[in-house]
Amino acid sequence: MDCLFCKMVKGEIPCTKVYEDDKVLAFEDINPAAPVHVLIIPKEHYDNVGDDVPQEVLGYLLQTVKKIAEIKEIDKSGYRVSINTGSDGGQTVNHLHLHVNGGAPLYCGSLVI
Ligand code: 5GP
Ligand code: ZN
Repeated sequence: MDCLFCKMVKGEIPCTKVYEDDKVLAFEDINPAAPVHVLIIPKEHYDNVGDDVPQEVLGYLLQTVKKIAEIKEIDKSGYRVSINTGSDGGQTVNHLHLHVNGGAPLYCGSLVI
């Protein structure tokens, strides 16, 4: 399958790793939208969160968020986790991924940025 993130899992395309284990890979986003912008992906391919993803996989991805926040030292200051899904959701890479953003206030009044 011609999937960018699967190629990263296989080591065919380089990435700046933040964390890796047998189930997930986390790496720096190439085009950061905040001072901290890490992507967490399952090593197994799922198109997106609507792709019959097993509960264990979803749970493990969310548990990994905490590890990433500690590694990037944003666990105290806070962060945002987002999963863009499909075209209206702004998903550009069709391999399930969580964005972890932080390192600066990500809000302006009630306006979410
Ligand atoms: P989406 O828009 O699908 O929610 O998120 C895809 C993310 O992947 C974007 O934030 C984009 O910057 C990132 N991205 C796209 N291509 C690459 C790449 O080759 N390397 C890395 N590290 N990130 C990428
Ligand atoms: Zn993939």
